[in-house]
Amino acid sequence: MRRLAAAVALLALLLPGGAAVAKPDPRWVFYTDDTTWYTSPWFGGQHRIMIPFGCTEAPYYAPDPRCADEHGFHHGIDVAMPCGTRLYAARRATVVDPGSLGPAYGTTPLLLHTDNWDLVIGHTRKRFVAPGDEVRRGQLVALASDNGAPDGCHLHFEKRAPGGGLDTATYPRGLLDLTAVVR
Ligand SMILES: [Zn+2]
Repeated sequence: MRRLAAAVALLALLLPGGAAVAKPDPRWVFYTDDTTWYTSPWFGGQHRIMIPFGCTEAPYYAPDPRCADEHGFHHGIDVAMPCGTRLYAARRATVVDPGSLGPAYGTTPLLLHTDNWDLVIGHTRKRFVAPGDEVRRGQLVALASDNGAPDGCHLHFEKRAPGGGLDTATYPRGLLDLTAVVR
């Protein structure tokens, strides 16, 4: 019986994204009133938004003329999730070289391209796809991590115009297909 319990515990550790390993990261700070837990075809498990899109009092961004009180502008949505949570492609897209993104997204971010939008996903590690790959819906593409993130493990989802830069970032919520979970 004890061996069975140990085996189950080990299995839980080996299943990133599973409820058994969804321990909060002590570095997380939630800059939102939204305490809803969400599922999404983009990631395993149920998680909360940590920093929403737009002006934010989170201290990681330079003061932005669009925002009051010297607040910065967050160009994506941060979803807090334990290190190792699985990231899936929820749409068909082409993987593009993310080389020009800069260090704020970590050293191994993902950049997905379509005719209608680009999606930058920051703070990934263990990318399972490479530039030039066509990804299909439901394909495992990377894992969440704290690569480049001072505030703990999470994923940053940033929607841009196709081939566009940071200044083309728009509200990505619809693309994330978030579904509220009743807990
Ligand atoms: Zn972010």
